[in-house]
Amino acid sequence: MVTVASYVLALDQGTTSSRSVLVDRAGEIVASAQAELTQSFPQTGWVEHDPNEIWSTQAATIAAVLAKADVSPRQLAAVGIANQRETTVLWDRHSGQPVAPAIVWQDRRTAAACDLLRATGVEPDIVRRTGLRLDPYFSATKLAWLLDTIPGARARATRGELAFGTVDSWLVYKLTGHRQHVTDATNASRTMLVNLQTGDWDPEMLRLLQIPPACLPTIVATARAATSMVADIAGHPVPLTGIAGDQHAALFGQACFAPGMAKNTYGTGCFLLANTGDTAQISQHKLLTTVAWQIDQQRQFALEGSVFVGGAVVQWLRDGLGIVQHAADSEALAASVPDSDGVYCVPAFTGLGSPHWDPHARGAFFGLTRGTTRAHIARAALESIAFQSADLLAAMQLDSGTPITELRVDGGATANNLLMQFQADILGIPVVRPRYAETTALGAAYLAGLGVNFWSSQDEIAANWQSERRFLPQLDTAAAQARLVDWARAVERTRGWSRPAAPNV
Ligand code: ADP
Repeated sequence: MVTVASYVLALDQGTTSSRSVLVDRAGEIVASAQAELTQSFPQTGWVEHDPNEIWSTQAATIAAVLAKADVSPRQLAAVGIANQRETTVLWDRHSGQPVAPAIVWQDRRTAAACDLLRATGVEPDIVRRTGLRLDPYFSATKLAWLLDTIPGARARATRGELAFGTVDSWLVYKLTGHRQHVTDATNASRTMLVNLQTGDWDPEMLRLLQIPPACLPTIVATARAATSMVADIAGHPVPLTGIAGDQHAALFGQACFAPGMAKNTYGTGCFLLANTGDTAQISQHKLLTTVAWQIDQQRQFALEGSVFVGGAVVQWLRDGLGIVQHAADSEALAASVPDSDGVYCVPAFTGLGSPHWDPHARGAFFGLTRGTTRAHIARAALESIAFQSADLLAAMQLDSGTPITELRVDGGATANNLLMQFQADILGIPVVRPRYAETTALGAAYLAGLGVNFWSSQDEIAANWQSERRFLPQLDTAAAQARLVDWARAVERTRGWSRPAAPNV
């Protein structure tokens, strides 16, 4: 009997859950399975995952999705991975066991180490080499911390006994029966150890952080032809042809293939990425430069900005203030008033991300009057998500040679029509919601499928992409501008708030 390979399996290993998704040739999601991942907070500012649980939950969802759809591994044309980025795993090559918990991207334990490095004046050189800022967010200082802290680790890493990887590396290692130690170009570009120009590990960065090259994975393309890499899926070999960091996969899943095309993901935080084509543009406006993807030998680049508190401000309305029962209720509550009546919310609960980069900023409401109601609070909170995203887009427009003329959106909070309309109003460009919100998994599937000719070209993938709704700007430019000016005034007043006040003299 001939079995037709009818599906691509996409693994979406996120911060809070592991998911597996089956995608057919039309780009339809046929089935999915999900398992929660335990979050550990052993100390203030520390966030850890158990690498073995990352793998066991991922493996369980693979089995579950195949069972749910009654699909055999023989029907899989390829497997692709999208993963939480920057999270750092260190394991023993001999036993295959992790030597420490994974240090998650949110973990701030290396903040002091970053400050010490910054004081030596190296940051401008780091930005130039890696396209990133000197921040605990990226893998480099997390790996250095592990090598410094685990007794004997640096010596073992130097002898090649320990392997470092981001979550993609760890999953590939597991999926290939401990045979492959690789990472893809997008994940590698988030380590702060890779040179943007060469695409390879940067000797100067390795020296600065005392990282032994022997522990590093081989950097491979994001989408690659089916060659030697084969994953064991339920005992059956399946070509492993696509690997990308989650935000890069989402950019691909949104078919943002040409320079100037951009997507914003509205989850807990917001991540805006704009394709800048084949030039790695160093931002003049405090954005990050990152590899969008590498297809065979061809690299494309992106500018990236992130908002720390996006949809999370709605969680706070629900759990902190208790003024809505479900996140979705925020829309009706906000729509019960015609506008925010001059109220502005700056949800700088954990400081401000790009383009402000102020760890000392703290949240605030402005413009409260005796007439302010919870509806105004909810409306101002929703608007703050759009205002923060507008700051990112404005920085991108200034940096990017190609104007961004529409914004493709995805993530949980895009279900909120009021938020999406306000986003279009404040940006002055259309905001487009696709038929499938699962762009991360779709992106991983598309990248993997390209490698095995399941889809013949990016054009075919772009043709699969469908808009569900276009939100067109309805506010006139002057009114939008006035709102942005007031927003900027509010942001300014939150800056530096948590820094101790200077003594009176
Ligand atoms: P993540 O992948 O970061 O967990 P999701 O894409 O699942 O995020 O989106 C969840 C976020 O979206 C939550 O922060 C939630 O508050 C917000 N959210 C979900 N539905 C809505 C809604 N209808 N209106 C506003 N925010 C929403």
